[in-house]
Amino acid sequence: MTDPVVDARTVVLATHNAHKVAELERILDDALGDVSLRAYDGPEPIEDGATFGENALIKARAAVQNTGLPALADDSGIAVDVLGGAPGIHSARYAGTRVDADNTALLLRNLEGVLERTAAFVCAAAFVTPDGEEHVVEAVWPGEVLTAPSGDGGFGYDPIFKPDDAPVSAAALSRDEKDALSHRSKAFRGIAPSVRTWFDTADR
Ligand code: IMP
Repeated sequence: MTDPVVDARTVVLATHNAHKVAELERILDDALGDVSLRAYDGPEPIEDGATFGENALIKARAAVQNTGLPALADDSGIAVDVLGGAPGIHSARYAGTRVDADNTALLLRNLEGVLERTAAFVCAAAFVTPDGEEHVVEAVWPGEVLTAPSGDGGFGYDPIFKPDDAPVSAAALSRDEKDALSHRSKAFRGIAPSVRTWFDTADR
């Protein structure tokens, strides 16, 4: 049984990725005021949308259906200009293995000898409510794909991505430095006001 008092100002975060929960708790800490986040561990839907926004909405809608609570979700990836935006929404499974090192190795191979290396990390954040409100905010973090990995931190494509607004790869930034600049931070800070407004409306 869910406790109506505990749930009164709770939004579920539709991700099974523990590092994303921790990252979003940090990012949203101030922005959500007294609205608390709870990780959602129900069934994961098939992400068959054509865009980051559609996939984020699919994840958030599934969490609302399974919990009856409002839900936040995101979908993200790296879009490389010279590859027409690939790997894009397929970033997590680009090399077919879901292994970060395989994905980055494939992207470096596909860009071998290519001088035009501009790219962006993209994140769509979605907020869906049990009464049918749907909000999406998309944000980008522009930069370029390096020719070799560098830096020990981060995850995914961080070691081969140098943001325009940083002197080093995303994997060489501290957690706080990345939080201040990243696509995910911008998207979730952008959607936070919709979350607060929904809870504040009619005193939910
Ligand atoms: P998602 O969990 O379905 O949103 O998949 C996102 C995928 O895009 C991850 O598996 C990473 O490969 C990549 N990605 C998204 N955001 C980042 C980031 O901040 N750094 C590095 N890779 C990222």
